[in-house]
Amino acid sequence: MVTLTLLPYDNPTNLALRPTILKIPYAQTLFRLNQPGDRRFAYAATQNSPLIIEVDYAPNIVPEAKLQTWLESMVQETLKKPARVIIETTPQIPAQNDYTHQELYTHAKAAQNPQLKSPSYLQLVYVNRSQDTPTNSGVVLTSETMFLFQDAMYELSTQSHIRDRLVESTIKHEWGHLLGLEHIDQEDCIMSETVEVYENRRFQATNIPTDYCPPTISALNLLLHQAN
Ligand SMILES: [Zn+2]
Repeated sequence: MVTLTLLPYDNPTNLALRPTILKIPYAQTLFRLNQPGDRRFAYAATQNSPLIIEVDYAPNIVPEAKLQTWLESMVQETLKKPARVIIETTPQIPAQNDYTHQELYTHAKAAQNPQLKSPSYLQLVYVNRSQDTPTNSGVVLTSETMFLFQDAMYELSTQSHIRDRLVESTIKHEWGHLLGLEHIDQEDCIMSETVEVYENRRFQATNIPTDYCPPTISALNLLLHQAN
């Protein structure tokens, strides 16, 4: 099987060819393109509306009450379209203290509800901690799933209103990666690396970015233009 995922993602050929190939759903399947960002045109296409978001979580995680609102406004803000959020009523991810990336990938795949799968399908998996990247509050490993790590939020703040902002910020950051955005060296931007990785840093509610900054908005507008 030919697969572009075997090449380094930032290989020049890959970078030049990928955007073209991504616009052809059949080619995307054929080449098994599943890197973060590989579904960006499908997500941004206006005909794929609403965006379907499935939330799966581990038994000791209680998703925040505002999670649905954050996800809906995140999609509206970036893609100008509605989202339909389905928070599973029972935990779909096996209980563990932490998870390797391979375990995250396997558990996420197994938890996906096949009835919800479509070109505009997004999965959020909420667990305690990443074993491979323990100081991350979030990570993306494939084109359609974002992972959120609750232990990191609790280590960063004991105050629930600050943790709420951390969750919202992390979700929007990981979503940015799934839409093809890279890190930006600007700490007040949602795509700053400090949003998902912390080094003994205590956040104040005032310096947790929750907005897409001008360079990311330009990139998102270009994506919407290219996809439609
Ligand atoms: Zn990142």
